[in-house]
Amino acid sequence: MTQKEECIFCKILDGEIPSAKVYEDEEVYAFLDISQVTKGHTLIIPKHHTKDIYHTDAALAEKVFARVPKVANAIKATYSPVGLNVLNNNEEPAGQSVFHLHIHLLPRYGKHDGFNLKWEVQADDYTPEDLQQIASAISQNISN
Ligand code: 5GP
Ligand code: ZN
Repeated sequence: MTQKEECIFCKILDGEIPSAKVYEDEEVYAFLDISQVTKGHTLIIPKHHTKDIYHTDAALAEKVFARVPKVANAIKATYSPVGLNVLNNNEEPAGQSVFHLHIHLLPRYGKHDGFNLKWEVQADDYTPEDLQQIASAISQNISN
């Protein structure tokens, strides 16, 4: 079996597994995440199977990310959340559990609404020179 044949989201796209559709066009499908971390928690996926952000070319990324404002605004118009997080997990240690690229849209209803993002600021550990060195190191690996 190929990765695509084993993929839950490809099965959803094929209609083999039912889903609650929010939006669909030729390139992209958006549906409710079964976990509903917050009410209206939606996933946007490309119809073309790609494992994660590393395996996604610019043209496909454009298609997926271009639909984020459209779906975000629909969620906002429907449930008037106080905020919204856009999240993409890549590889297991970063929380990816389904290996078909997906963007989470998580409407927020307050501090204790089911979603929690722990964000520890480490700014004191880095001098401006450290930041320049890190930026330069990453920059050298940017490919066209
Ligand atoms: P990840 O953990 O990879 O960032 O997100 C995968 C998400 O897919 C999870 O939040 C999980 O709840 C959701 N999910 C897994 N299986 C299914 C399914 O069969 N149907 C739907 N609608 N969502 C699913
Ligand atoms: Zn897939």
